[in-house]
Amino acid sequence: MNRRRCPTGKLKHFNEAWAEIAARRQSEDLGSVFRVYRCTCGWWHTFDVLKKRNKETQRESRNARRRRAARGEPSPLQILQAEQRREHRRAQRYRRRLREELPLRVWEDDGGA
Ligand SMILES: [Zn+2]
Repeated sequence: MNRRRCPTGKLKHFNEAWAEIAARRQSEDLGSVFRVYRCTCGWWHTFDVLKKRNKETQRESRNARRRRAARGEPSPLQILQAEQRREHRRAQRYRRRLREELPLRVWEDDGGA
């Protein structure tokens, strides 16, 4: 594997599947949305989608904001908040499903004995 120096200093994951597991855990623990990507260093990292989008939101220039408001479109912040509510509900559903599946898995693991 290509071992270039990592520009991020982030936690390194060996492959996409492992990074996905870490991303799921971070999403749960931190109440945000984490996705994975392959870095130029050759490893996989996770990143916070909502935080990244927040930064992009703050980059909207005053002119862009005026033009958007004139068109009557929602602000990036409003879109982000709606998205956060959706993701929050999704995380709740995910946790509920995990709780419901856990007894089943235990049952299967011991062969149902
Ligand atoms: Zn890297």
